[in-house]
Amino acid sequence: MDIVVLGKTGIEVTKLCFGALPLGPLQKNLPVAEGGEVIAYGLNSGINFIDTAQGYKTYPHIKMALNAVNFRPVIATKSTAVDYEGMEEAIFEALKSMGVDYLDIFHLHAARVGSDVFEVRKGALQCLLDYKKKGIIRAVGISTHSVKIVQAAAYRNDIDVVFPLINKIGRGILEGTVADMEKAMDICSKNGKGIYLMKVLGGGTLIDDFESSMEYALDLGNNYSIAVGMISNEEVEFNTKYFSGIKNLEDIIKIKNKKQVRVSQGMCVGCGTCISVCHSDAIDFDENEKAFIDQSKCIQCGYCVASCPEFSIRVI
Ligand code: SF4
Ligand code: SF4
Repeated sequence: MDIVVLGKTGIEVTKLCFGALPLGPLQKNLPVAEGGEVIAYGLNSGINFIDTAQGYKTYPHIKMALNAVNFRPVIATKSTAVDYEGMEEAIFEALKSMGVDYLDIFHLHAARVGSDVFEVRKGALQCLLDYKKKGIIRAVGISTHSVKIVQAAAYRNDIDVVFPLINKIGRGILEGTVADMEKAMDICSKNGKGIYLMKVLGGGTLIDDFESSMEYALDLGNNYSIAVGMISNEEVEFNTKYFSGIKNLEDIIKIKNKKQVRVSQGMCVGCGTCISVCHSDAIDFDENEKAFIDQSKCIQCGYCVASCPEFSIRVI
């Protein structure tokens, strides 16, 4: 599998990054041992890069995987902490819960926040910079869905790595278009930022259009890595082969057939938009006022996925 260098950081990662969100409690909720095995399988299949977050709650799965392989992969994590103290706690939690003594990349987790993030969270950013000086963090980054934040990051000396949301139809991009995001990423790259891509398959919702979605992402930049969420050895095998040039696209149909449309309960704000667009009467609120999909009624049309303002309905 190709190796890319993340900007001026010198950090070498595989073109395919293991996205740890979908196997954790927010989505598929695999038991720790099972999730850890899938990550370890990915690492033993040639992936050297894992993306996670404090909020994904997948540190225990990653710890298990690290204990099962004989090399130390590159680990990127992130936190939504706003101030210095909160970020310091997030760093300690990551180190302790994954059983590591340094973190390769630590992002401000700023998925859906406004472009004043660097001002609003300057305490948290300062904390990351201090821990970079101490050698506990190798690179400081920002993960975002917003074009404006990517544009701003391009000109900041304190940001080493950018993790932007992009996919060929622009699903989930905030404050700009796909073309705007491409341009902002280009500037970041020219200015020496490391870049790896988020949600190139729209959180699983573009799986019907896997090849053109992935080819679009691969064409964006030779020096970009791509995070792909994986929940089974079968998916790991398919993706590692695909990224090594072995493209057996019939296998993606088998993977797709095992997937379900599901609501990430932690992210649902109970707005009800998805309920109003579902013609199959498959969605209702549960006792906590979160959307819940009755799988026996769902025909996987995807209307609800596109309707959710919180990006909380996924195909996993
Ligand atoms: S995918 Fe279609 S049928 Fe299934 S819950 Fe969403 S809108 Fe309803
Ligand atoms: S549209 Fe999204 S946020 Fe709103 S109720 Fe449905 S899942 Fe929840």
